[in-house]
Amino acid sequence: MMKRTHISVSLLVTSPLILANPISAVGIVAATIPDIDLWFGGIDNHRKITHSLLALGISTGIMYVVFPTAWLVWFIAYLSHLVLDSLTIKGIPFFYPFNKQYFGLKKVKCGGREDKFIALIMVYLIFEWIGSH
Ligand SMILES: [Zn+2]
Repeated sequence: MMKRTHISVSLLVTSPLILANPISAVGIVAATIPDIDLWFGGIDNHRKITHSLLALGISTGIMYVVFPTAWLVWFIAYLSHLVLDSLTIKGIPFFYPFNKQYFGLKKVKCGGREDKFIALIMVYLIFEWIGSH
C-alpha cells in the first residue's frame, strides 16, 4: 500500500486516542515504520521481519516500556499497516521468520486504483469524523 493509505487508515482508526492523548500521534510513525526495510534492504528484502506479528509484538512491547500511554495506538496503527499490506498481491509473512509463507487477500495492487480509493475514503471519513466533533 501507499504511505498515504497507511497514514490515512491509521489516523482514522486511532483518532479518538490521538484526541485523548496527543502523544498518540506516534501512531503515524507506527503506520509507516514497517516499510523501513525498503531503506535498508531494498525491494528484495521488503516485507519480511518488519511485516510480521513478531515485529508487531516486540515494537509494541518497547512502546509499552518507553511510552506507556501510547502503546495501544502504536499496536493499532502497526497492525493496520500489516492488514492493509495483506490485501496487496504480495501479501504479508505474518509468522516470519518461523513460517515464510505470505498470507492475505492478495487482490490489491500497490499504488493502484483500489489503493488510492482506500486512501481517499479514509481521508473523507476523517473529515466527516472531525466535522461531527
Ligand atoms: Zn508495508
